[in-house]
Amino acid sequence: MSNPSILILPGDGIGQEVMAEVKKIISWYGDKRGLAFDVSEDLVGGAAYDVHGVPLADATMAKAQEVDAVLLGAVGGPKYDVLDFSVKPERGLLRLRKEMDLYANLRPAQCFDALADFSSLKKDVVAGLDIMIVRELTSGVYFGTPRGIFEENGERVGINTQRYTEAEVERVARSAFELAMRRNKKVCSMEKANVMESGILWREVVTRVGADYPEVELSHMYADNGAMQLVRWPKQFDVIVTDNLFGDILSDCAAMLTGSLGMLPSASLGAPMANGRPKAMYEPVHGSAPDIAGQGKANPIACILSFAMALRYSFDQGEEATRLEKAVEKVLADGVRTADLMGPEGGTPVSTAQMGDKIIEA
Ligand code: ATP
Ligand code: MG
Repeated sequence: MSNPSILILPGDGIGQEVMAEVKKIISWYGDKRGLAFDVSEDLVGGAAYDVHGVPLADATMAKAQEVDAVLLGAVGGPKYDVLDFSVKPERGLLRLRKEMDLYANLRPAQCFDALADFSSLKKDVVAGLDIMIVRELTSGVYFGTPRGIFEENGERVGINTQRYTEAEVERVARSAFELAMRRNKKVCSMEKANVMESGILWREVVTRVGADYPEVELSHMYADNGAMQLVRWPKQFDVIVTDNLFGDILSDCAAMLTGSLGMLPSASLGAPMANGRPKAMYEPVHGSAPDIAGQGKANPIACILSFAMALRYSFDQGEEATRLEKAVEKVLADGVRTADLMGPEGGTPVSTAQMGDKIIEA
């Protein structure tokens, strides 16, 4: 059998720096643990525009469709701000998500003990927090039609349409329940069924899918209450499943429960491929951070934890994923910090590469 395949797209800015650490870790797996991957690398975002005049070449897109997992760094930078919208670096990312049909966006909010003081909340509210938000990524109000700015009775009106088909709700709900089965068997679905038709359908379909998972405890919450509960006592949740718009807001909110942007991984999953694994792209939540790019200051942990998610969800290596996460935890407990993780007490930060080396050592 051939090795599992990975397409690495480092992209722009600190994307290249943080991905360099993931590449070291991937090599380490091959050398030290007999877990070899077929790795290829290509351009995305501004880096692709510079060479091809487009933020994602067709050949790269085709390659992304074939591999077991795509790892993406970050795209964009001030140099590309002047470009036409159709060739902006971000369009490369959107094309990947759309053509791979990555409908389930998984964003964990996990608090490492050593960083619990970083949260804006009280330590006991966040210490030990480990929840997962599943956001529907390819439909809803961001894509529904009619949309546009129209002329109506002599004035302009801006219109977006919240729209979900049963099939769209069903597939993302199934992703959430499958996840819950591998976690703590609890799903909370969030919508606004009190005021929205799409919310009524959402609740109905999630409930129906839930019947296939009798071991999973399902609850429903209006999204506004959900936002409040997320900040009040986030540990009441395990998996939260919600639509594109609410998920956008709730996942950013959940993210900040845990501290630095440099710590947050994500996975975007699509339908199962012939080998049974989902189409998948893994990327840190943060962007290309032009303010610190090229200085060796970036925290590589978000990208490294994204690779841990790939180990778990694309390569059936849950134990290795946990080991990698434990290594991150240990390094943080030992007090190793990149600049973004330095508290007011100060200290000497390590570089991107030193952080990667420490994690490999651990
Ligand atoms: P995008 O539009 O691509 O999402 P953004 O403007 O939202 O980008 P980022 O590029 O993620 O934001 O950067 C926001 C801030 O967080 C910057 O000050 C950046 O330096 C910091 N930051 C982001 N990622 C990291 C990281 N991995 N390590 C250290 N600092 C980071
Ligand atoms: Mg941003």
